[in-house]
Amino acid sequence: MNYKNFINGQFLDSASQSTDDVIDPATGDVLASVPSSGSEDADLAVTAAKSAFPNWSNSTPRERSEKLHALADVIEKNIDELKAIESKNVGKPVSIIDFEFDLTVDNLRFFAGATRTLPTQGAGEYLEDHTSYLRREPLGVCVGIAPWNYPLNMAIWKLGPALAAGNTFILKPSELTPLSALKLAEISTDIFDPGVFNVVTGQGETLGDALVRHEDVAMVSVTGDVNTGKLIAKNASDSLKRVHLELGGKAPVVVFDDADLDLVASTLVDMGYYNSGQDCTAPCRVIAGEKIFDDLLNQLGSRVAEVTTGEPSNPDTVMGPLVSLEQQQRVNSMVDRAIKAGAEVVAGGSTIERDGFFFEPTVLANPDQDSEIVQREVFGPVISVQKFSDEAQAITWANGVDYGLAASVWTSDVGRAMRVSKALKFGCVWVNDHIPIISEMPHGGFKQSGYGKDMSIYAIEHYSELKHVMIRH
Ligand code: NAD
Repeated sequence: MNYKNFINGQFLDSASQSTDDVIDPATGDVLASVPSSGSEDADLAVTAAKSAFPNWSNSTPRERSEKLHALADVIEKNIDELKAIESKNVGKPVSIIDFEFDLTVDNLRFFAGATRTLPTQGAGEYLEDHTSYLRREPLGVCVGIAPWNYPLNMAIWKLGPALAAGNTFILKPSELTPLSALKLAEISTDIFDPGVFNVVTGQGETLGDALVRHEDVAMVSVTGDVNTGKLIAKNASDSLKRVHLELGGKAPVVVFDDADLDLVASTLVDMGYYNSGQDCTAPCRVIAGEKIFDDLLNQLGSRVAEVTTGEPSNPDTVMGPLVSLEQQQRVNSMVDRAIKAGAEVVAGGSTIERDGFFFEPTVLANPDQDSEIVQREVFGPVISVQKFSDEAQAITWANGVDYGLAASVWTSDVGRAMRVSKALKFGCVWVNDHIPIISEMPHGGFKQSGYGKDMSIYAIEHYSELKHVMIRH
């Protein structure tokens, strides 16, 4: 099937007429072809979004709210088709897909509500004979650059606050998983005026780069790899545009001896292999107390054996493929190097010999803190387990990586939970849980996991600008 860009309310081929193939990760077959866009297409989209900005930014919060609710309505109306597209394109099992679609719709409705209640400090006389007040103003044209692990959900995390704040928006989905974004364009044609919402597909190094460097783009919001984020921040600096970076993670799971082990093991297996471990907050780096270490490994070993891998459309499948051959090879070589460096295989450890890009759910024990498998994001179904000797070491190891996105602490001691959650340098810390995510609370990293928050009212703050107006009287 052939798809087109959505620019200025029209469906267009790329200016060069060239296309990229989209691959089904469960089989390796070509699923579709989409425009392989470049700088000419970027220019067209930016011009459209720039022309649409005056009207959209002058619409009332109520009008913007109604449009965002209308978008949520059409997503709900087409949800079965959207889920099927996402399942096919990303290789997500149908058994796990409901959660992220529920979150997608809820995120959009959250921003539809939030646009009507944006907080600022009240007007006041802070200088004699002068009144000051604040305006929260949109930035202009915002570009959202999305990854492949939750394509539609990540698109909405960017589109929601951008449009709610009064910006116009260009979505560049991942070249691997553009199909749900293109479907979103198709179902939204009656909602927005031309140019308010645009979708352009293409490679990061060409289309993405052209958007990042474009003088008329006010903000780029990217979710992706740390190196991609650094490059984008550098390339955006010539035009000093605002950059919002949601990057990789390497979430520690700090398990004390008094934790509920059944709950730890079941959460690790449910969440560590969810989406084939291709989740920036995945609980992938267990740091466990000496007394429970062996029990935890035993429990993980037996529970992992029950994770059914296979065809995403089979309702019994718990874990599907990785997104691409490149990702499968990357995970495979990282696991090989971890084993060579001394990690012990408790479960899995290899690719699965069948069509598509499958890898076994894997548990590795006793890697060194300095080893690659502990220090670098795998973005695959791999959980490592280390043994700590005391609380100070657990905290040092947990914080001892470049990333700072998410972490969890498992203990029945409330004081320890509070102490350790304060000590962990991560944007989100769960206590006795790992992964739940809600629209009202911010999601975003510390350190090399990036800056700027997704979801919540704090996201809208990042997609808007405060202006101080001061009146002498
Ligand atoms: P990626 O960095 O390869 O690509 C992300 C996006 O950036 C894609 O759309 C790509 O085309 C674009 N891109 C690449 N190079 C570019 C350039 N030079 N200029 C402009 N755009 C460019 O990431 P991915 O492999 O698609 O996604 C996986 C990564 O995303 C992982 O590291 C994961 O941790 C991260 N992620 C983070 C979060 C979060 O909330 N922090 C959420 C999901 C995924």
